Amino acid sequence: MHARQNTAGLSTPRAAPPPIHVRDHALFLDLDGTLIEIQDRPHAVFASPALRELLRRLSDLMSGALAVVTGRSLGDLDDILEGAVDHAAGVHGFEIQRGARITRDQIELTQLAEARADLRRLLQQHELPALVEDKHASLALHYRQIPEAEELVQSIAREIAAKRGLRVLQGKMVVELIATARTKGYAVTVLMAAPPFSGRTPVAIGDDRTDEDAFSAATRMGGFGVLVGEPRETHARYVLADPSAVAAWLQMGLRAG
Ligand SMILES: [Mg+2]
Repeated sequence: MHARQNTAGLSTPRAAPPPIHVRDHALFLDLDGTLIEIQDRPHAVFASPALRELLRRLSDLMSGALAVVTGRSLGDLDDILEGAVDHAAGVHGFEIQRGARITRDQIELTQLAEARADLRRLLQQHELPALVEDKHASLALHYRQIPEAEELVQSIAREIAAKRGLRVLQGKMVVELIATARTKGYAVTVLMAAPPFSGRTPVAIGDDRTDEDAFSAATRMGGFGVLVGEPRETHARYVLADPSAVAAWLQMGLRAG
């Protein structure tokens, strides 16, 4: 059925996931690269009315057991999805939204303020036009516009992280300095602990390295992960090629329900 897993629970899946059970599954969906195609600039993205409608209807059918788990801030996410989902996690689990209630991790802001100053200085010194996105709990350096500078941007990020005691998160053409110890796996675990998610089987879908924690958490709780993109070593059990394959799979769930 699917590729055999090695001792670390990693495998290279080739099969598409089974259909969604709207009464039994809980869905945890990444946004960029999963529900929408990655854009050159993080703020150039928007969700089509069709996608927002799909999420809204699926969420209703699943009694609300659908959450978007993203590296974006919740404010940013809300601008993009316009309230299509009731539950979400922002900045890789730093902020959790359950209906109208939002909770955030306690973080040390001084480290980030110092890291911000370091970053400004180093980027200027190397004349790097990397785009810095300030997400309150983290600083994301986007280098999609300057892929040739990847190594330099990465080394700058590592240097500042080591100096200021921050964690480094790797993404696609982005490296993030983050002040919280939380992960997308934490977000899945914490949302699963209460209605409307509790008692359901978690299914986590994502395309990036930060989604691996969500795949592992879902697997630990008896569910599974779905990797979006080219098959590679992952904690996910299944694979879907791209956001349009994800949308088609979600649509199938709607019809089955
Ligand atoms: Mg993604």
